[in-house]
Amino acid sequence: MASRRTAHRPERTCVGCRQVAPRDQLLRLVRESAPGDGAPRVRLDPTRSAPGRGAWLHPDAACLDLALRRGGLARSYRGAVDTGLLARDLEDFRSHPTVEQVEEPMDIR
Ligand SMILES: [Zn+2]
Repeated sequence: MASRRTAHRPERTCVGCRQVAPRDQLLRLVRESAPGDGAPRVRLDPTRSAPGRGAWLHPDAACLDLALRRGGLARSYRGAVDTGLLARDLEDFRSHPTVEQVEEPMDIR
């Protein structure tokens, strides 16, 4: 897909809140095939470089919740996906961030 934007900071749309944000503020999600006939699984991609179709999400449980409830992930991936591991992935990420982009660690409410 060609980008019409010439901004130097690439932007992506969060699959949860549908807001456009600089890519470095979003987490990359990637679909991986499940063994057998199971639906493909969506996992967090901390490296942001895993092969496959990516989707983007704010590192926020509220956005994940929206993505799950609105079916944003299924829409991004054009089909049913297993998101059962995603909440835990996000939780792990939030307690042990592995991407060097955490500019606002004070996200405590
Ligand atoms: Zn969001």
